[in-house]
Amino acid sequence: MADTPIELTERNIVTARPDRNPVDVNTPYSFLVEPERTHDGRVEDVATVFLTNRECPFKCLMCDLWRNTTEQTVPIGAIPQQIDFALQRLPSARHLKLYNSGNFFDAKAIPREDWPAIVERARGFQAVIVENHPKLCGDACLDFRDRLAEHGVELEIAIGLEMIHPEVLPRLNKQMTLDDYSRAVEFLVGAGIRVRSFVLLRPPFLSEEEGVEWALRSVEFAFDRRVSCCAVIPVRAGNGIMEQLAAAGQFAPPKLSSLEAVLERGIAMNRGRVFVDLWDAQQFATCRSCVDSRVARLNRMNLNQSMELSIDCPDC
Ligand code: SF4
Ligand SMILES: [Zn+2]
Repeated sequence: MADTPIELTERNIVTARPDRNPVDVNTPYSFLVEPERTHDGRVEDVATVFLTNRECPFKCLMCDLWRNTTEQTVPIGAIPQQIDFALQRLPSARHLKLYNSGNFFDAKAIPREDWPAIVERARGFQAVIVENHPKLCGDACLDFRDRLAEHGVELEIAIGLEMIHPEVLPRLNKQMTLDDYSRAVEFLVGAGIRVRSFVLLRPPFLSEEEGVEWALRSVEFAFDRRVSCCAVIPVRAGNGIMEQLAAAGQFAPPKLSSLEAVLERGIAMNRGRVFVDLWDAQQFATCRSCVDSRVARLNRMNLNQSMELSIDCPDC
């Protein structure tokens, strides 16, 4: 692992950014319904609402989620209004993801005053899934769990583990140690809250092979702590500093074949569900002839959690 010539301070991460996208505090910046394998082995529809809200206070090296955020806390009532906007336009679903490009339990992102209205909108769903940073996992999570439970709705929390590599994790500026992560997961799982984790595939400073190995080690680390599911995210450029690292030879996005290897080996662990994030996955392919069938296979494996024969392509 070579030393980077780029100083990875928070200031440099922020200065390198391109412009934010224009957003509207009354409208989620995206929303969709897609099927997902559940913890008890079914495939059910999940509605995901990507909430427009104040930017996450952590400034991770690889993050581009700030692009669809605001600089100020959104007004009280905006978040429930955004949920209504999405749910009125989406087909019905069994589960609800409220993803806010940051941390649901950051009161500057999701005003606590809105919790009763959010819980009201969660009624009828089996589970609500939110994202949160390990350092923000405390009693507020239990309070929200209890409010949902009054209506028979389960709470699940998604936590970014990112990468357990001892030299890479500190350089991601996640401001989290593995102990922080382990403590948070133990606290939540002990409180009956299901946890899923995000794991990065090939963050900066790792070769293609190291990227695969360390993603799998991170998945194992998460399962050892009793998370129920790991979602592997291929790292992309696009936030400014990642382009600088790419130009310096310190970052390259993973190949589709690495995504395939991680899903195959992750499912074979048989420790819990392993998903790979297929958003815009075509960009990681090296062969145009087989990309669609490769991505379709990964999508089926995400849903079935079972191995499929690999794609045989005459062109690659
Ligand atoms: S904690 Fe998550 S949302 Fe916040 S900067 Fe890091 S990756 Fe982005
Ligand atoms: Zn091919």
